[in-house]
Amino acid sequence: MKTIIIDAIALIGAFIGMEGVAWLAHKYIMHGLLWRWHRDHHKKEDDGFFEHNDFFFILFAVPGILCLLFGMFNNYNFVFWIGAGITLYGLAYFIIHDIFIHQRFKILRHSDSVYFRALRRAHKMHHKHLGKFDGECFGMLWVPFKYFKEMKNKNA
Ligand SMILES: [Zn+2]
Ligand SMILES: [Zn+2]
Ligand SMILES: [Zn+2]
Repeated sequence: MKTIIIDAIALIGAFIGMEGVAWLAHKYIMHGLLWRWHRDHHKKEDDGFFEHNDFFFILFAVPGILCLLFGMFNNYNFVFWIGAGITLYGLAYFIIHDIFIHQRFKILRHSDSVYFRALRRAHKMHHKHLGKFDGECFGMLWVPFKYFKEMKNKNA
């Protein structure tokens, strides 16, 4: 029983922690050292389906896969569940950011709620900035409270 609790904490903790990691990576890596990969996500360069920005999916998938493998070889211990949390976050990020917000696949178009509207608005604010050094809203699933308020007032 005890291990189930530890595994659950590992899974949920990794998922929540990844929002912080994503924020840091977006602000300091994607808008930092590896800006040349992220730049075409802010300023379209051609009409192709893939962006250089997609390299980050491969890069950011590595830690999750390593944790999954390491945990598998150790009897599916908590490291496996950390890997599962990281990987699930990556999936959620992809669904929200690439499908829901940027509509790279023509599904999930009509998802509508205050949360989804606020989330889309927050990321639009991120995209308003075209340069490397200015920016806001680097997170993804955690939406700053002010956008909830803004969207709620719009509804009323
Ligand atoms: Zn960005
Ligand atoms: Zn972005
Ligand atoms: Zn974006």
